[in-house]
Amino acid sequence: MSETNKDQIAVVTGASRGIGAAIASRLAADGFTVGIHYGRDTDAADATVAAIEDAGGKAFAFRADLAAGTAAEDFWASFDKAAAGAGVIGQSLKVLVNNAGVTLRGAIEDFSREDFLAQQAVNVNAPYFIVKEALPRLADGGRIVNISSGVTRIAFPEIIGYALTKGAIDAFTLTLAKHLGPRGITVNAVAPGVVDTDINASWLRGNQDAIDGVSASTALGRVGQPEDIASIVAFLASDDGRWVTGQTVDATGGTNL
Ligand code: NAD
Repeated sequence: MSETNKDQIAVVTGASRGIGAAIASRLAADGFTVGIHYGRDTDAADATVAAIEDAGGKAFAFRADLAAGTAAEDFWASFDKAAAGAGVIGQSLKVLVNNAGVTLRGAIEDFSREDFLAQQAVNVNAPYFIVKEALPRLADGGRIVNISSGVTRIAFPEIIGYALTKGAIDAFTLTLAKHLGPRGITVNAVAPGVVDTDINASWLRGNQDAIDGVSASTALGRVGQPEDIASIVAFLASDDGRWVTGQTVDATGGTNL
């Protein structure tokens, strides 16, 4: 366990599973005390905390529904309560990773207004307002990392609404980086290609044709794993990443090169 980031907090949204859990585990290994945000799956969040603690790291879980209109206020109130309960006092917030997201599938002709707005609430509104509320807490020299997607640059009409939300995240990243530069805070995004997580379970898991198709369209010849994304986030969160800001880092393994 690294001593480098001792007594500094990293918060990861949607960290009970998938890419978020891998990011949380990696940041804990890098020495951060990690706040594991989750939506509904308390058991999975507790398991992520336990795995981190078993490996010698520090973490605590807290719950907030990011689809709610009061998501950001609920999020930080829940964080404060859990941090106090975990005895995490006097540590500064160094890293915020906006990872939680949903992918609702549907072409523009088929997609209801309600589905579109529900997806936007989690993928766009929640990160925006969580960051807004975080600004007084975030240490100067801190780090914000947003999880975008490769679909902002490779067209998949069946997830057009999702692509729009991730394009908004890229624009937010760019503009926020300029705004927070004077405080030494870097803001970057990571844009994964297809990663083997629950978000893709319905069409990827156990479907060898789909796995082969994704692998064939990727220069490195395989489906991405959550740890492939976590290592890039860890770099951007580290001191080594201090001169990178306002960027969306392609993390697709070279999809459609
Ligand atoms: P996942 O479904 O395993 O994880 C999504 C996380 O977001 C879960 O922890 C979930 O609980 C949380 N979440 C969703 N809605 C929520 C809500 N209303 N309130 C609170 N939490 C909520 O999928 P993942 O692949 O790990 O996704 C993580 C991020 O990576 C997402 O932003 C996703 O868009 C992005 N991404 C994933 C892929 C991929 O292929 N897996 C590709 C590109 C981008």
